[in-house]
This record gives sequence, structure tokens and C-alpha cells, in this order.
Amino acid sequence: MMHVPLTVGAMMEHAETFFPKKQVISQTHDQLHHLTYKDVGQRTRRLMSVLKELGANKGDRIGTLAWNHHRHLEIYFAAPGIGSVLHTINIRLAPEHIIYIINHAEDKILFVDEDILPLIEKIKDHLTTVEAYVVMTDKAELPDSSIHPLYSYEELLQTGDPSYPFNTDIDENEIAGMCYTSATTGKPKGVTYSHRGIVLHSYALGLADSAAISESDVSMPVVPQFHVNAWGTPFACTWFGSTQVLPGPRFTPQRLAEFIDKFKVTITAGVPTIWLALYRELEKGIYDTSSLRAVLCGGSAAPLGLIKAFEEKLNIPFFHAYGATETTPLVTLSRLKSYQQNLSNEEKLKERSRQGILVPGLQMKVLGNSGEISWDDQEMGELLVRGNWIANEYYKDERSEQAFVDGWFHTGDVVTVDEEGTIKIVDRTKDLIKSGGEWISSVDLENAIMAHEAVFEASVVAVPDAEWQERPIACVVLNEGYKKDGMKEAIMNYLRPQFAKFWLPDNVLFFDEIPKTSVGKFLKRELREQVKEQLGL
Ligand code: ADP
Repeated sequence: MMHVPLTVGAMMEHAETFFPKKQVISQTHDQLHHLTYKDVGQRTRRLMSVLKELGANKGDRIGTLAWNHHRHLEIYFAAPGIGSVLHTINIRLAPEHIIYIINHAEDKILFVDEDILPLIEKIKDHLTTVEAYVVMTDKAELPDSSIHPLYSYEELLQTGDPSYPFNTDIDENEIAGMCYTSATTGKPKGVTYSHRGIVLHSYALGLADSAAISESDVSMPVVPQFHVNAWGTPFACTWFGSTQVLPGPRFTPQRLAEFIDKFKVTITAGVPTIWLALYRELEKGIYDTSSLRAVLCGGSAAPLGLIKAFEEKLNIPFFHAYGATETTPLVTLSRLKSYQQNLSNEEKLKERSRQGILVPGLQMKVLGNSGEISWDDQEMGELLVRGNWIANEYYKDERSEQAFVDGWFHTGDVVTVDEEGTIKIVDRTKDLIKSGGEWISSVDLENAIMAHEAVFEASVVAVPDAEWQERPIACVVLNEGYKKDGMKEAIMNYLRPQFAKFWLPDNVLFFDEIPKTSVGKFLKRELREQVKEQLGL
């Protein structure tokens, strides 16, 4: 059969050709923009010609430090469209990590949102490879800045060619994008995405038993465009002609709720902490959310209580998915099989709070202490995956050797698998609590505690223990209106019937807030330190 290269540029051409009237609605600092794919296509072409003028060549890295908006979407296609590499940078990382990432990727041009310019001012003298900066502002004039050379996105676009062609001389295995994992340990690690990987991953997002993204969807990615390409949704949604709603900088739960209501959003994606906050807003009962057919939740474990609250109290379908920067990211998604529809509501919910089964196209293997584990939902092992949208190395990084072995990516996630092949993430290898030779899943404990009515958030970490090696400590943020008095006993009583005695936390500590990573996951490393301090360890 024919072999036609799978390229990112061809996805935008498809949208321009077949969905020119469909919309991209984009919030920037100062305005709400309504564009069509015809507009976005032409602007992408203008941007490609501008990039060429600025000296971008095949393989050059084009960095972005930006929120979710249409200009960011345009670069998603313009950089790979000329054969350069889209490099999205996490704006919430520590400045020293941002410097490391930009220098390590050797970014040639940086596209920066206006509110991020002050950060660049501070670090610019450390950036060794950047030749030009472009500010993505709505304003006519450039902001006052010592950054040089600094261009205005819209001014540059006016000089661009609206019919500039997408480069067709691209091998599908060339790099289209790259992203660094947030540095929970050590320096961030770079992952590169090929054109082929991105296109195949987009197909996967469209499958009926996966995210089922289609033309009729109105997609609002809350997950940042700098966090694994907003989980690939901008690529898939553009290709399929879905309407996109990009919620812009510094959004609030209120803005998200308003957008869902106003633009009839059908699908949205983000981490559990976002949904916890949005739930509080939606609970007010003043928004129409009946258009929502799917909230996709991943990045860390979705507590069962959260799924239940969305589905039973708000009538919003909630889907748990799992992936990582190294996996583009979709690996598993949780849906019931047709014959599981007969289960009780409680059983269904329990099943759907697992991370789900592998998306077609990928392969998995779970390695325990003595080879592959059995699918009995008891034995634990590390999840290994392979497939056409799974990275095969870290970019110029010797840590590749540990994670990519014999054609498999070692996820660092410990799972059990049930007889249906559904995985349940028990913990990250580094967060598992090892107590007296047994393993305790911090995630299981967290989920159970978060199901308690008084609890807003809970995270469980290990502290060193002379007798048992490690013991779990529960860290809890209470819902508004609940007092700490007597709450420790209440939570322990709630957990007792659910877990073996040795699993029960040695203590319950109360916090105003659980420290989070730059993408909203519990920052256990820091929490451990705070716990040790509170306990005087
Ligand atoms: P980082 O490793 O810096 O957090 P990633 O966003 O790549 O950056 O994180 C991927 C990791 O997030 C996975 O390896 C896994 O530990 C965790 N994760 C992702 N989705 C889920 C999920 N649905 N349930 C539990 N953990 C998840």
C-alpha cells in the first residue's frame, strides 16, 4: 500500500479545507477572540513565513512560554509546519529549571506571553542560544523591555504570507515537538515527539472507546498547552474540526464554569485539583453544564469521591485517564465494557476509578519481583509500555538508560491488573510506603480519606520508622465549615473497616494547603519535609 508521511502540518490543512467555518474561541489577557479555522490556518501560514524570516530552519527548536490561547495553537502547527520543533515550556517551573530547559533544548526563538516577560527579563542573560524573542500581546505597541531583539506577534504576522505552504518534504519520523517533564527529582528530562507519533496519538484520541473526540465536540483544554501539549487535544481537535475554547491566562474556576455554560463545552481535560476547585464553583448551581459529555481527568489519581460527585451530584460524565510526558500522553482510559453495565452502581464506580485499559495501538507488560505479575489485582509490579507514540529516549540525557530498556518504557508507576486487564496505579515507585517488608499504597489511602465528607484534599506520605522502616502519615485539608477537633479520630474510624491494620496511618495532620507541583500534583517531597518538621523528626 501507499506510504504517505503522517505530518502535523497536514492536520491543519485538513481543518482549513473541510472546517473553515468552525471556531476557535480564545481568551487572551485583554480580549476574547472568535476565529475560524480559515483564520487560524491563514495566521499559521503567516507565522510559518515569519519564522523563516527570523531564521528558523528544519530541526530548530522554537520555544513557547504561554497559556492556552489561539496564538499558542498557531505555533503548534507553524513550527512543525516548516520542519522546526515546537518546544512548549512549563511557565510554572523554577527559573533555574526554565534556564536549564531552554539552554538544553537550544531554543533559537522564544515566543512569550506578555505576563511572562518579567521572568524572561530576569533570566535572559543566562540564555545562551536564543536569537529572537516574540511577545504574544494584543496591544499595538511593544511593552517596555530590555529584551532584545523583541518583536510583536501581531506586527510580525501582518508582514507574513497568508498562503505560505506547509513543508511537504518532512519525514514522519522527524521531531515535531518536545516537552520536558517537571522536575520532581533532579533536572527536567526532555522528551521529543515525532510527527508520526503525534498523528497516531490524535487518531487514538478520536476512538469511540477512548476520548471519542469528533467534529461535533466543543473542547476546552484546562490542562496547559505546556503540559504534554494539553494532552494532545489541540492537535486532534484541529484535525477533526472540533470547536476549541482556549481559556487563556490565569483562569479561575468561575471563568471555566462560565465558558462551559456560554460556549456549550462538551469535553474538557485536566488534573484532579482543577476539578476539585471547579466542583466547588459548579455546586453553586448557577451554571448550565448540560452540554458536557466528558470531563477527562488524569495526571494523578482521580479520587473515587470526585468521580461520584461529578456524576451523581452534577450529572457530568467523568473519565479517568492515565499517561505521562513520555507517552504523548494517552496510555489508558477507564470505561466499562458492555457486559460490565450490569454491575451495581458502587461496583461500576469502583471499576471506573481505576486507570482503565490500554488504548489500542499500545502494548504493556507489568514486572513484579519475579517476572510478569498475574492479573489477580493483588500482585504489584512496575508498568512498562511500548507503542508508536511512546518515547524511546530522553533528549540528550544519560538517564535514558534506566527508563528505556529493550524497547520498553519503564513508567516508574506501580500497578495491579485485574482479570479484565484494567490497571490500577498503586503508587509511583518512589512514593510507595515500605512498611515491615510490605508495601502500602499511598494512593489507596488518599482516595479513601478523600471520600470522607469533611475532607477537601488528602495526601499520604511515608516517614522513617526505626521498627518498620517507613510508616504512613495522612495530611488532610478540611472542607470549609469543618473543625479539626475530634477529626483525627473520625478519619481513623472511617478508615479502620476499609484497611488492614498495618495500612492505617500512624497520624493525621491538618494543613491549610497541600504543596503542589507546577502542574497541580501533590508535591510529596516537600510535604514529607513539612510532616517531619511538624512531628519533630
Ligand atoms: P511528572 O512526572 O513530572 O509528574 P508527568 O505529567 O509526565 O510529569 O507525569 C506522569 C505521571 O503522572 C505518571 O507516571 C503517573 O505517576 C502520574 N499519573 C498520570 N496520570 C495518572 C492517573 N490517572 N492516576 C495516577 N497517576 C497518574
